[in-house]
Amino acid sequence: MSRWQLYRAKREHIAGTGAVAMIEFAPGRDMAQSWASNVPFRYHSDDYEGDRPRASYYETSMKHPGEDLSAGVTRITVSERVVNALLKDTEIDPEAFAARVKNSLKPESKELKNARLKLKTTVDSRIIQARNVVGVLPGKDTSEIIVIGGHYDHVGKHDGWIWNGADDNASGTVGVMTIAKAMMASGEKPEKTIVFAAWTGEEKGLLGSEYFADHPWNDAEMILNLNYDMISRDDMDDSLGVKCSMTYTEKYGILEELAVKHNKEYDLGLEIKYNPQERPRGGSDHAPFAAKDVPVFYFMAGFPPEYHSTNDHVEKVNWDKMVKIIKLGYLNTWELSNTDWE
Ligand SMILES: [Zn+2]
Repeated sequence: MSRWQLYRAKREHIAGTGAVAMIEFAPGRDMAQSWASNVPFRYHSDDYEGDRPRASYYETSMKHPGEDLSAGVTRITVSERVVNALLKDTEIDPEAFAARVKNSLKPESKELKNARLKLKTTVDSRIIQARNVVGVLPGKDTSEIIVIGGHYDHVGKHDGWIWNGADDNASGTVGVMTIAKAMMASGEKPEKTIVFAAWTGEEKGLLGSEYFADHPWNDAEMILNLNYDMISRDDMDDSLGVKCSMTYTEKYGILEELAVKHNKEYDLGLEIKYNPQERPRGGSDHAPFAAKDVPVFYFMAGFPPEYHSTNDHVEKVNWDKMVKIIKLGYLNTWELSNTDWE
């Protein structure tokens, strides 16, 4: 998880510095050697045994259509030979350099004065259409909305392999629909309006939720976002299957207070690790809301080893925990849609 997060963080940071390209090299893991060793290369996964590179979801990038032609920062991975050529006239030993930075946890940026690398890339782009699925339960007040969402896309199907994505994120979309069903079944009209959303394009960079956050339903003021992403699994240290985490906007302590209260009052028995953060970031659909200073909260049940693999299957779901997390989300949002708390 952290590696995946780091990539995104690195790319964002580097794009912000105005770099035109990013050259990556991992000392000790020379790709050229892997090719030369002539064994079937397990492309990106320990369960793939094809001898052709597997077409990967990650090979294309997507963004909202806009006015600029930028394709973002070009990123290439180079072999040891290229690195040696680039570092030829310097004292830098890449392996020692990597070890030192790893130990000190401090960047040691260096300028390569005479190195030049010429790179030619092309961008092949086309427009595709995708949709969020949005349902609205109008409250007495329709100028303020609570958004309950989870992404319905996953990483798809390639070369006969299917990423079913039971935890990521069938579990979360079930959460959204279950809360919608329960709120309708209550027969009551909440004070604030509640919007239920299944987002598209999360795996491509939070595209659906970002679009909604920029163009909210009815131009309403978004007063809260509950995000469900991966709410059905247990971590290795969770043999009782009751642990989960709840991350929320620090300023709104009421989100934690209510979760504590409801967990107790309704005997849910969840063991919740609370993570208050000033403005919760990260790779899921709460981020575009948090970036606009909308209070957010989201749950995670566990981080399974099958994350983004073809084995994220329904047999591994902890239904009991999932139901409890959904109940908690329901109780919190229902109460917050009927009280003045902002
Ligand atoms: Zn996800």
